[in-house]
Amino acid sequence: MNKFFFKSAKINEFRLWGLVFTLVGMGVMIVGTGGIIWWGQIGRIIAAVFMVIGMISLLISVMVYFWAGMMSTSATMLQCPECGRQTKMLGKTDRCMYCKTILTLDPAQATHAPAE
Ligand SMILES: [Zn+2]
Repeated sequence: MNKFFFKSAKINEFRLWGLVFTLVGMGVMIVGTGGIIWWGQIGRIIAAVFMVIGMISLLISVMVYFWAGMMSTSATMLQCPECGRQTKMLGKTDRCMYCKTILTLDPAQATHAPAE
């Protein structure tokens, strides 16, 4: 079976993860900075730790975005047989970016062949 984290195309999933890491990273850094005000001296240490965590999270998000960019250049462009829109596929099996239909290039996994 094909595993999808969310019911969406893989490229959209990567973008979502990138966004999640960006938001978490920024959130952690804001909380960390707030720690200086709330906890005084100890807050400075907490802030430093949170800053590092935030930076790592932002770094991961940049890597995810970069990876998604790399993947999308090797993605297969095709017209979705369901909604007729131009979509991108990663690997042999992926979902349509618009209608979420599972598409496959592997004839063995196909449930029905596109009508040509
Ligand atoms: Zn579609």
